[in-house]
Amino acid sequence: MNNQLTQDAQDLPRLLALTLHAASDYLATIDARPAATDFVAKAPLPLPEAGTGAAATLKLFLARYGASMPASNGPRFWGFVTGGATPAALMGDWLTSTYDLNLSSAANSTAPNIELEAIHLLRELFGLPDTFSGTFVTGATMANVVGLALGREWMGRQQGVSIAEAGLSAVPPIAVVGGEAHSSIHKALAMLGLGRASYRRAATLPGDREAVDLADLRGRLDELAGAPCIVVANAGTVNTVDFDDLQAIAALKTTYPFWLHIDAAFGAFAACAPAYCHLVAGMEQADSLTIDAHKWLNAPYDAAMIFARHRELQHAVFQNNAAYLGELREPIDFVHLGPENSRRLRALPVWFTLLAYGRDGYQAIVEANCAQAQRFAAHLATSADFVVLAPVRMNVVCFTLAGQPDAASVAAFLARLRDDGRIFLTPTVLHGVPAMRAAFSNWRTTEADLEIAWAALQASLTA
Ligand SMILES: *Cc1c(COP(=O)(O)O)cnc(C)c1O
Repeated sequence: MNNQLTQDAQDLPRLLALTLHAASDYLATIDARPAATDFVAKAPLPLPEAGTGAAATLKLFLARYGASMPASNGPRFWGFVTGGATPAALMGDWLTSTYDLNLSSAANSTAPNIELEAIHLLRELFGLPDTFSGTFVTGATMANVVGLALGREWMGRQQGVSIAEAGLSAVPPIAVVGGEAHSSIHKALAMLGLGRASYRRAATLPGDREAVDLADLRGRLDELAGAPCIVVANAGTVNTVDFDDLQAIAALKTTYPFWLHIDAAFGAFAACAPAYCHLVAGMEQADSLTIDAHKWLNAPYDAAMIFARHRELQHAVFQNNAAYLGELREPIDFVHLGPENSRRLRALPVWFTLLAYGRDGYQAIVEANCAQAQRFAAHLATSADFVVLAPVRMNVVCFTLAGQPDAASVAAFLARLRDDGRIFLTPTVLHGVPAMRAAFSNWRTTEADLEIAWAALQASLTA
């Protein structure tokens, strides 16, 4: 064995302690770190002929990057929809790397129980019946890819064809219908060979709504004259957290043949709080359902789940028969259920955090974040400098600068705000208006952060 590696192997407890210190130091300073910083390019380091060993490498890392690691998992990173690993989730994630286990099947460990148990806990959290099986993937984008791949296979079966076997050329073009879909739905359609052009966009409701107009959706389905299609319903739009009427969409199935894919990447967490759970009524009627773990569950990147209740189709699309993998068994043959063959034990952080904080813990996070969004919007509404663009339905505030700003002035404001460092927000466009979003989804965020944010907004108004 290489000398450095031998030494490091002998020195492992001390090296882990050094890593623990680095992690603790970072987490202890998370409030003081900038939420985000601008990107600054660096010339890459050359590959050393002889390595320096792990301790010196940690030192080098901390010197080169440590101080500049931002608090994107901190309480005031309100861009995108971003959680921050809970303590228990972080512990689970460390152990995931420690075990470094390939959770592709039940061939070599009982670890599949961890994934099955985590999925079971999640079903309980979201009120999903156990007719849904769940599979961990890397994010909601990949969950959407899997859900739409299942819909694609279902479409083929309606015409007596397995698209997984025969390919898309064996069937006429597939129509996908829905309202204000997340950008990743279009990316998934591109990846799956269905094509971005397959999406037939139904109108959204008038006014400040982003939910689909059911009459228009029905019109799109009528245009198909009884031909099956895939319907994408949205539970939680990124700008204003609007929800399609899932129950009404599911009820259309009695009239029109379609596969119902629901993208509830973070909207699914409405199920955790009594005041919001009506928003996801009908979610359990999905054929496939996307939920992120690295957003409101506050599990570390990168993790999401695809829930589906069409096991046979999932096997048809994702089966990976190879002699060297041996006979694989239900329900733990993950290698045959998702895009990856080799798979990280991604379920462990989720298992940890759900058992550590329970249903109450998640209700508290969701309710606190929604209350923060309400208060932040109320504060903005008292200011002559900002305009709130939509009612706050859950955890996102969509607003802009007063005086009909163009995209460049919003971008300049957001850059000043980022460089101020106290909060981080991301831009958007709502009904043609250049705007920005404050998305609350981190367990660390408190009332005090709203005051800090307010001061940062004020300070960033002028260049
Ligand atoms: C964030 C999000 C996605 C994409 O999720 P990733 O985890 O970034 O891949 C898809 N749909 C919705 C509604 C989202 O909010």
